[in-house]
Parts: sequence; structure tokens; C-alpha cells
Amino acid sequence: MLTMVERVLVAEPRGFCAGVEMAIKALTWMVRIFEPPVYCYHEIVHNEWVVRAFEKVGVIFVDDIEEAPEDAPIMLSAHGSAPEVVSGAAERASVVIDAVCPLVTKVHHEVKRMTARGYEIIYVGHVGHDEAIGTLAEAPDEITLVEPESGLADNFTPKDPSKVALLSQTTLGVHEWTSVLDAARDRFPEITTARRSDLCYATTNRQEAVRGLTEQCQLILVVGSENSSNTRALVRVAREFDTAAHRIDSVDDIREDWLGDVTTVGLTAGASAPDHLVTDVIDRLDPSLGFELFSVTEEGEYFPLPPQLRGLVGLLQTMVEAGVAARRPREPDWMAGDRTWTATEALESIVR
Ligand code: SF4
Repeated sequence: MLTMVERVLVAEPRGFCAGVEMAIKALTWMVRIFEPPVYCYHEIVHNEWVVRAFEKVGVIFVDDIEEAPEDAPIMLSAHGSAPEVVSGAAERASVVIDAVCPLVTKVHHEVKRMTARGYEIIYVGHVGHDEAIGTLAEAPDEITLVEPESGLADNFTPKDPSKVALLSQTTLGVHEWTSVLDAARDRFPEITTARRSDLCYATTNRQEAVRGLTEQCQLILVVGSENSSNTRALVRVAREFDTAAHRIDSVDDIREDWLGDVTTVGLTAGASAPDHLVTDVIDRLDPSLGFELFSVTEEGEYFPLPPQLRGLVGLLQTMVEAGVAARRPREPDWMAGDRTWTATEALESIVR
């Protein structure tokens, strides 16, 4: 591809968040511990490349827990599952590992806490998104979903206007959340919301980096899949600041007519996109002055493996030490502790 691109500014942070790191490593452990197929309810994370990589090693993704045979091992995705899915999986499966991100679990808890105190909830999220489906299912009769783009529904009429709460999906655009919050406060001055917004640190940090990139770039490319809510939010943030932006699954999606006389490209990735896809884009753009990192903050968040899986891993460790493990992990370092390896290394281990 012949371009006039001189510089590529690469956002930091970008790509895998702590929740995605945990979920990918957890599913990799499942593939190591159990004979295929391993079943996963919903895509483990919303990234096409990651999902295909796991399918190649025997993971079957299902949208209905009953599609998994009885007594098969089942993992539940990072987006959080409805209570009836969690209980259905527990009845059906030999082993259930719930890879829900703790920050999604926090919103589920808020729903339960607020409805128990008699609040009706406005939930800002995307219809049909896995995270929204799981959260709404915590209290379907007490929650009204509003799309961030549509704003507060005129037809939302609470029984008691002094008992209204506002919660949200973790991956919305910051500006979308604040505009719904402002409108909700105008209509319901006593509205209750989470002490800090439900938007997660990874969402807000990646958006902050994109906002900074818009001051220096004529074009921003966002690596991530169509069904990734936080990825699509990054594109919307760039456009909100009047900068052309496009989502791409991989380098092959870049269109030459986007580049035209663009000399500086901003590059980032949604929270579920592997970093090698970002590197591919830099290689293809081949900027004449090279690439630079554009950093707004450092992230040190770490989420441990789900507790059920930690128990299994401990058991496997004991068996390996005793020389009786049926399936020895190929990577001895895995056994040294979860912090010693990354989701990127986990994916490398399954695709090679
Ligand atoms: S984007 Fe946020 S809520 Fe979603 S998995 Fe990552 S850290 Fe958790």
C-alpha cells in the first residue's frame, strides 16, 4: 500500500484490559485441562480473531446453555450472564467457570442493591449486547433500557420519581453517559447513581487517549470487532472531536481512499483486540518517520482467575508435582503463578 503517511501515533493504553486478560487466560486453562470440546456461553470476548483462535483448538461457543451436552465443561463469558444462565449451567455442566469481569459483576450488584431498596432503574446500554442482556436479567421488571444515542425515554414514567436510579453498561462513550445523566438529573432531581459512573477504567482510559489523538491526527483507526461496544465507542469519540475514524477488524479492512493525503494516523485498539493486529497496521502503513507511542496513563489493574478455576489449577499443580497429571501444560511458567504470563502469551500458545 503506497501512502503519504509520515507518522503513526499509537495510543497507550490500548487493547487488552484486565477483564479480557483474565477471561482469555481462563479459557486457555480450560483448553489445557479438559479434552475438547470445551463449551463457552457467548463469545468469551468480542473479538473475531480471538474467537476463531479458540474454535481451532476445540472451543464451541453457544448462545443457549442447552446447546452444550450434559456434563460438558462450560465457561461463561466476560460480559456477565443472566442468573438463570448461571444456575442452568450449574445444573447441566460437569464444571462451570464464570469468567465474568468483576467490573460487570459490580453493576449486577448495584442492580440488586437498588431494586431491593425499591428503586426503578434506567439502564443506559445497547439493546442485544451480551452485557446488557445479563444485567437486565437481574431485575427485568424494574429496569428500563435506554440506548445512549436516543437519550432518556420520554415514556419512562416511574411509580415514584424520588426513587429512580441510573446505571449503565461499562463500555459506553463518556459523553454519551454524561448527556443521559444530565437529562436524567433535570427530570428526576433526586436520581441515584453509582458513586463513580459504571464506565470502567479501561473504557475511559482508551477514550481519553483517542481524544488526545484527535488533536494531532487527521485519521484514527480503531482495531476491534463490530460487536465490541467499547471499540465502537472509540470511533464515536474520535468523530465527536471532528476527526475521521474507522473501525477495522484487521489490516485488510483499511481502504486506500481513507488515507488520501493523510500524513498522521492515530491508532488504537478496543479492549478485546490482540496487539499483533495493531502491529500489522503499522507495518502496512509503513510511516516514513516511524511510529510513536501516545500515552495518557499507565494501567496496572489485574484481575485474578475465577475462584472455581483457581481450585482446579491448584489441583493440577499438585498432580504435576506428583507426576500423575493427564495433560501436562506445555508451559512450565504457567504453574509459577497467574501473574507470570499474559493473555497474549496464552493465545500464542494455542495458535502455534
Ligand atoms: S472493558 Fe472494562 S468491564 Fe469490560 S472486560 Fe474490560 S475491564 Fe471489564
